[in-house]
Amino acid sequence: METIFEAQDFIMNTGVEQKICGHAPHAIYEASVNKLHALEQMMSFYRDGSETTELNRHAGKEAVKLSQDMMFVLEQAQAFAQLSENAFHILLAPMVQLWRNAGAENKLPARDEISKTLKLCDSGNLVLDKAAGTAYLKQEGAMLDLGAIGKGFAADVCCDLYKALGATSAFINLGGNVKTLGSRPDGKPWVVGLQHPDQPRGKSYGAILCADQSVVTSGAYERYQVIDGRKYHHIIDGRTGYPSASDLKSVTVVSENSMQADALSTAAFVMGLRKGTDLIDQASCTGAVFFTAANEVYLSKGMKQHFRLLERFPCYEL
Ligand code: ADP
Ligand code: MG
Repeated sequence: METIFEAQDFIMNTGVEQKICGHAPHAIYEASVNKLHALEQMMSFYRDGSETTELNRHAGKEAVKLSQDMMFVLEQAQAFAQLSENAFHILLAPMVQLWRNAGAENKLPARDEISKTLKLCDSGNLVLDKAAGTAYLKQEGAMLDLGAIGKGFAADVCCDLYKALGATSAFINLGGNVKTLGSRPDGKPWVVGLQHPDQPRGKSYGAILCADQSVVTSGAYERYQVIDGRKYHHIIDGRTGYPSASDLKSVTVVSENSMQADALSTAAFVMGLRKGTDLIDQASCTGAVFFTAANEVYLSKGMKQHFRLLERFPCYEL
């Protein structure tokens, strides 16, 4: 008989919630937890010995051999960087650190520090050699950071695993990065609430109905530092070196591919409503929901059938 197994863990520095339906869901859960630990060991920015840490440690010195999974993630990341004209890219860690330190010292970074750090963040610093299976960071001090794509990749890997191990229906939420396998066990679509950017955690302004899809939100409200009484959030505009100042409070991307949804939600957030819409229309994803600074909700083409508005906001279709 099919049963449902539900569990919550803390892996990859974030809360992980899983619901798995099948004949032996607990065994599937154990396999996915093992896989998530392995992916954390591969991608973590903080762990000694991760492929990310090794690449960063050898920046400006030598190329580093990568696992196939890591090569795949880096290649995909480069493709998303190209598609988004670098609104998303994975070499912004020096700038993220500069702003984190600024928050700790409660002092804005100086302009010349920002321009110096911007040079380290050049997306051209990462060179992949697919034939040799290696990657090289050209400048000492350059650093890779998969914070805006790693959870999406992990969600894809877990859903593939659920399916391969015979799950009929499943749900995974990696720190707000959701992916579903099939519909709910009762045959209805999964309902993913979209966090209201200005209200306490758990308060949704809308919801996405989905099956076999991923739902990922990037926003300015979750992680930020306060410097001189002003909030500075954690998504950087690589063109300026400052936290992105677009006309959006959040962007939610829906796609069959969670890595794509993760990368493009970050990219669209940086690009803003108009350019972000073009990006989403160009990419092969299902669509996006934009929550603007003026508290309006915009749906990209094809999103209406997947979206339910739960609060009274002006809501427009693009
Ligand atoms: P979260 O992980 O908080 O859900 P994102 O997916 O948008 O949000 O990723 C944000 C993280 O990615 C930041 O904490 C930082 O490490 C890194 N980052 C910041 N700005 C960018 C950017 N423009 N492109 C890619 N990664 C970024
Ligand atoms: Mg992201």
